[in-house]
Amino acid sequence: MAKGTSFEVGQMRVHILDDGVFVTDAGNLFGGSQKARIKGAMHPVLVEAGDDLALIDAGFGPELPEILVGRYELNRERDLLDYLDDAGYTADDVTHVILSHLDADHVGWALGTPSFPNATVYVQEAALEEARQMPEKDGRRAVVPAVEKGVEEGWCELLDGDGNVLPGVRVEVRAGHSAGHQIVWLGDGDDLALYTGDLAPAKIWLDPNLIAGVDTDPEAARKNRIEVLTEAEERDAPVILYHEPEDCLVKVRSKGDGFEAVPAGSSD
Ligand SMILES: [Zn+2]
Repeated sequence: MAKGTSFEVGQMRVHILDDGVFVTDAGNLFGGSQKARIKGAMHPVLVEAGDDLALIDAGFGPELPEILVGRYELNRERDLLDYLDDAGYTADDVTHVILSHLDADHVGWALGTPSFPNATVYVQEAALEEARQMPEKDGRRAVVPAVEKGVEEGWCELLDGDGNVLPGVRVEVRAGHSAGHQIVWLGDGDDLALYTGDLAPAKIWLDPNLIAGVDTDPEAARKNRIEVLTEAEERDAPVILYHEPEDCLVKVRSKGDGFEAVPAGSSD
């Protein structure tokens, strides 16, 4: 990704940050015993919204979580806090952290060792509830104590469905990858951008039929992916792809029974 990608939407400036690249066996993402190696970036998003500063998703954190050692490799020379610094901010400046869901590659800096002392962290209650039901060794289950601690101490707020976290920053529950998985619409009126989280995290996921082994409700994921990408196309909204190593800001266009990515600068 070009370093320091940022753009304007509505009254806000949006910076696409970076937290390195992970490498894993395809089998860890799609199930089965596929031997191919798969690479994914992590692109948390920073939104300047008036006096507030919102971060959407929070990478792996200071280091690869213990639960993933041996299955994932994390490669980076610079991390999220370095890219935050490039954008002109420190961890103290972040006021809101929105977590799309509770997988380790999205919550690290926000939950593992909370790095944003002045921020409220927003999690869907349904995502927490699902995480509580996961098997002991699951990554989602592993962060439950941190979320519960946050709720108790008042720095984590549980959401129940769609709504504005800030003016121009609207979360919408689009489940499938996990229960309570939330996407984020940025902007207002016709001037919108979309953060898809793990509903469609990279260009290969613009194929609605691609199901990840880790999707807890594949049919919901498929239906929501089609609906959301259709809406992004109709609204001509740039889409931020969290795990896309290159060109993580695109627009989508229908193609066959799926979608393709076109440069974000394209218009109808
Ligand atoms: Zn992910």
